[in-house]
Amino acid sequence: MRNLVLVLGDQLDRESAAFDGFDPKQDRVLMIEAFEESTHVWSHKTRTALFLSAMRHFAKEIEARGWPIDYRSLDREADASLASGVTAAVAARKAKKVVVVEPGDLRVRASLEAACAKSNCEFEVRIDRHFLCTVDEFKKWAGKNKSLRMEFFYREMRKRHRVLMDGENPIGGQWNFDAENRKSFGKSGPQDVPTPPKFSPDTITNEVIALVENKFKDHPGSTANFNWPVTREDALRALDDFIEKRLGDFGPHQDAMWTGLVFAWHSLLSSSLNLKLLNPREVIEAAEGAYKKRKLDLASVEGFIRQVLGWREFMRGVYFTDMPTLKTANHFDHKNDLPKWYWTGETKMNCLKQCVDQTLEYGYSHHIQRLMITGMFGITAEIEPQQLCDWYLAVYVDAVEWVELPNTAGMALFANGGRFTSKPYVASGTYVKRMSNYCDGCAYKPDVKTGAKACPLTTLYWNFLDKHEKTFSSNPRTSLMVKNLQRMTDEDRAAIYTDAKRMLKDLNAL
Ligand SMILES: Cc1cc2nc3c(=O)[nH]c(=O)nc-3n(C[C@H](O)[C@H](O)[C@H](O)COP(=O)(O)OP(=O)(O)OC[C@H]3O[C@@H](n4cnc5c(N)ncnc54)[C@H](O)[C@@H]3O)c2cc1C
Ligand code: SF4
Repeated sequence: MRNLVLVLGDQLDRESAAFDGFDPKQDRVLMIEAFEESTHVWSHKTRTALFLSAMRHFAKEIEARGWPIDYRSLDREADASLASGVTAAVAARKAKKVVVVEPGDLRVRASLEAACAKSNCEFEVRIDRHFLCTVDEFKKWAGKNKSLRMEFFYREMRKRHRVLMDGENPIGGQWNFDAENRKSFGKSGPQDVPTPPKFSPDTITNEVIALVENKFKDHPGSTANFNWPVTREDALRALDDFIEKRLGDFGPHQDAMWTGLVFAWHSLLSSSLNLKLLNPREVIEAAEGAYKKRKLDLASVEGFIRQVLGWREFMRGVYFTDMPTLKTANHFDHKNDLPKWYWTGETKMNCLKQCVDQTLEYGYSHHIQRLMITGMFGITAEIEPQQLCDWYLAVYVDAVEWVELPNTAGMALFANGGRFTSKPYVASGTYVKRMSNYCDGCAYKPDVKTGAKACPLTTLYWNFLDKHEKTFSSNPRTSLMVKNLQRMTDEDRAAIYTDAKRMLKDLNAL
């Protein structure tokens, strides 16, 4: 056999570079369901089910092309790891070479490389054409700069790919309309929220769900609400639905949260994009096309395109530029263990309960819930970044390390010392009160800093500022926060310190 073309679970791209020059007479596709991919972090059942179902559907497509395929499943071959699966397949097929597209997790790449070396088999890694910016292009853009700013990268991408451009200028005269996209729902709450499309599990998905419930029964989360695209056709339907029903209102309430409201106007496209069922170019084109044709709100369309063309590509570049140090980064030297309630939702803090509960139920929460609730608690509660990164990698349907790690370690936890953010994302409970109704159903009070009713987010926020007062007062982006701290009396500061110490000692009790 000439080439075994390995298609990983997050590389279900019909146009993948791995298939370039594929010759069914000399080559074979190889797909492997490996235990390690669900156990190296304690993967949510829905996340595993989604990957496996999408893989099995993709394998059927390969068969329909008439291409030979070795599909090693968890119920038959039960490979412990991708590496052991590759080793077995190479031996069985006497393959000369394993071809793969750049894995989105460097752990996987290293293990495959080692397995091939051990089997005396060549290992070829091809560039992932799915992305609009290659790793080399990003590294060139980043150069030797100590700090990187997404906004400048995004402008370059807009110009290079001619997205929302009017000649050399941005359509609407501005690159960024973020300031218009931070509204809360107000007292009356969200109105006329569209329902996301249904993707009822078919036979393959139901088989996979049964398999997951059997092999990973103690894993977190539920599969009861499984409703994710598992084929390209499903993913295209999800895209159409978003463009038609939600894109026009995507922006204004992008950051808002409300009890029981899980999906709001968000696109729910991250898992389809990350599995490569959708191409970001077609997603961007569809959004820009709808803006032009239907005259949708520019702030909403630009806001959405910035996430896909800007943040998504930027995060990937950061991952491949800053690894392996990003994986162990711990700027504040935080050492606390992840509280147990991150896996159960059993906490008295209603904001965290709501976000964890919905994560366990659906494998989904939106960006601000990830950043300003579960992430922000992590930084002010001094949780060791790697423990929280593992949690994020485990519980979200869209989690793959290239995108999860920079978002968690870099954006949410400031573990890389602000490589691409000018300040840590921290706020007190009053931010949560402003952006949601979570505080209404909470045992704590957002504006109370000390005592039995003190909101832990508030107490820990002030304590965090207190601890880093000197550094934050010299940063223009945080100096105002510190000035507010300095207005407090010494007694108030001492009381916050005492309460914070008590909270930090037993995060499980909060
Ligand atoms: C701590 C933390 C961890 C995260 N982990 C992941 C992850 O594992 N996988 C993942 O895809 N996203 C991750 N994100 C980014 C973002 O929260 C999700 O992409 C988004 O919530 C997915 O929901 P959606 O498809 O409805 O997104 P929308 O809000 O509709 O956004 C549109 C699309 O833009 C892209 N996007 C938006 N924000 C980001 C971002 N910050 N980085 C990269 N792409 C972005 C996604 O592809 C998304 O589908 C994380 C964010 C934080 C703060
Ligand atoms: S009071 Fe504090 S802990 Fe409770 S929901 Fe509000 S912000 Fe969260």
